[in-house]
Amino acid sequence: MSQEIEIVEVGPRDGLQNENTILDTAIKIEFVNRLIDSGVKRLEVASFVHPKLVPAMADAEQVMRDLSPHPDVKYIGLALNERGFRRALDAGCDEINFVMVASEGFGLRNQNATPLQTADLFDRVMVLANDDKVPVSVTISVAFGDPFEGEVPTEILEMLTARAVSAGASEIALGDTIGVADPWTVAKTIQRVQAVSQGVPLRLHFHNTRNTALANIHASIENGVRIIDASCGGIGGCPFAPAATGNVPTEDVVYMLERAGIKTGIDLKKMIETSNWLSKQLGKELPSMLPKAGIF
Ligand code: ZN
Repeated sequence: MSQEIEIVEVGPRDGLQNENTILDTAIKIEFVNRLIDSGVKRLEVASFVHPKLVPAMADAEQVMRDLSPHPDVKYIGLALNERGFRRALDAGCDEINFVMVASEGFGLRNQNATPLQTADLFDRVMVLANDDKVPVSVTISVAFGDPFEGEVPTEILEMLTARAVSAGASEIALGDTIGVADPWTVAKTIQRVQAVSQGVPLRLHFHNTRNTALANIHASIENGVRIIDASCGGIGGCPFAPAATGNVPTEDVVYMLERAGIKTGIDLKKMIETSNWLSKQLGKELPSMLPKAGIF
């Protein structure tokens, strides 16, 4: 197999946002620089949400100011609403990732919006983005299950994907926010969503809450997905399962892909070093397996 998979590193945003330890801005910058040195080319670095709601992201603007520009690296900012979107634009993000929500229970609690309202909001923010020519991806959160309402009908994902595509999204991500997906459902869901995405690339975002993330990534790649989110060390946790592990660990994903001859452009040794460094900064053992077992 000579394939290439693009890893979008979400540790500095999705990861750190859900950790108990809040890192100083300077440490966050060092984290990002270490990730870039490990070969990462696209990273979520900040979330433009209200600092009272997510204290770990209160320095979003400062992070963007302190990061050094790299011609071949894209810094992604996350936005849930118009205000956050404007902030992300003003901060000079290379890309913005806008969050739609697949289910009302989670949507109303997370961003005070229903699935349809997030699609309407996206139409409005895309008017701002078009002035700026910044690529905007959409992550559909709780795509495989909602902690309050349970199963999410695939029709909702098809509807939101169609809306995102017609408004001009550069990429669509399906997010397993609470880590409940299985590989067979992932395969079926991707096929259905691809049928309405009109060639706009799909990205898949898995949490390892119930230990199914690597299997879900395998199913995604087998179904044509070429962009995968992952988080160094597997940091992140899940606010709805406090004792559970976090995002799928970047080093474990890269290891699995490399063994299959699939290229990611990431230097595994450096990624493990970054994971060990991060473990010290957060003062805890991280969930990823590769730093413990070593490279084969
Ligand atoms: Zn996530």
